[in-house]
Amino acid sequence: MIDILSLTKDELRGILEERGFKKYRYKQIFSFLHKHLIDDFDEITVIKKSVREELKGIFCIKDSKNVQEELSNDNAVKYLFEFDDSVSIESVLIPMKDDKSRFTICVSTQAGCKMGCLFCATGKMGFKRNLTASEIIFQIRYIVKKHHLENINVVYMGMGEPLDNYENVIKSIKILSDEDGLNISKRKITLSTCGIVPSIERLKQDLPNINIALSLHSAINKKRDLLMPINKTYPLDAVMRSLKGFPLPHRKRITFEYVMIKGVNDTEEDKKALLKLLSTYKSKLNIIPLNKHQLMDVDIEPSSSEKIEEFSRYLREKGVFVTVRKSKGSSINAACGMLATCGRSAFKTS
Ligand code: SF4
Repeated sequence: MIDILSLTKDELRGILEERGFKKYRYKQIFSFLHKHLIDDFDEITVIKKSVREELKGIFCIKDSKNVQEELSNDNAVKYLFEFDDSVSIESVLIPMKDDKSRFTICVSTQAGCKMGCLFCATGKMGFKRNLTASEIIFQIRYIVKKHHLENINVVYMGMGEPLDNYENVIKSIKILSDEDGLNISKRKITLSTCGIVPSIERLKQDLPNINIALSLHSAINKKRDLLMPINKTYPLDAVMRSLKGFPLPHRKRITFEYVMIKGVNDTEEDKKALLKLLSTYKSKLNIIPLNKHQLMDVDIEPSSSEKIEEFSRYLREKGVFVTVRKSKGSSINAACGMLATCGRSAFKTS
């Protein structure tokens, strides 16, 4: 059976034409799958039953055998999706602070992660497998359908390193942004990476005009080595060079994520290094107070709010565009760096 949600419109056309379906069918079927979000071919009532039966003999529509959800005290909703092979992943629906009709969906791209960043729960659970394009898309279509959402941003910032699952991630973005599907503008999609240089180079060619975020966490190479092991393979200067000239959407900036850790990356030396590093980039520095979690095996603490305020004021006064993000969902382990599907208490069943 072919996993139809993993197919781009062109791939679907190729398969259907090869099997003698009418030329216009691919668009019709793609649209029912990705715009009307059907879960069963029988919902395509504009197609004859015999054709629907034929489709059922060729394709399957990805589903989750178990869904759980949990609401945080600040209105974020965390979802756990379990797939056929019992691998489970998490996604988060985050309401926008100032506009009740807008939401961000944070999706996972891998079950677990190989990158082992010091502060991250996903890294602590190890790596199980890459998600397929359909499993990435499934997270969004399920949440959009359940809440009848129309205005969403999608951030590839959940479990896993998106550029370590390059082909499936790129494919999922192409499908999600297709005008005959959910038609999510690339301006509303952000891909976050820990800095895999060859994949950033590929991304510039394959998918220009999406937003990119770098998990930076230190502007000092040696310190970044300690926080993010990937830095030993792709050092900071190589990552920054690859981001130079990244083809962003019009009037957008590269986001640099900075989890702030007391006494580790919030010193005088750190803010001066940050200022120097970001001065030649069209950038936005997103400071995130460290979220502590049960899988953390190092003794680190978030910087105090006074320290964060002083740090961000210094950079703002020097012309850096800084935001401080209080991650939503920390009460249910859904905030930045907290997603993991093992090693702590399970969800409440919905
Ligand atoms: S921060 Fe991202 S890249 Fe690092 S371990 Fe966590 S999921 Fe992986």
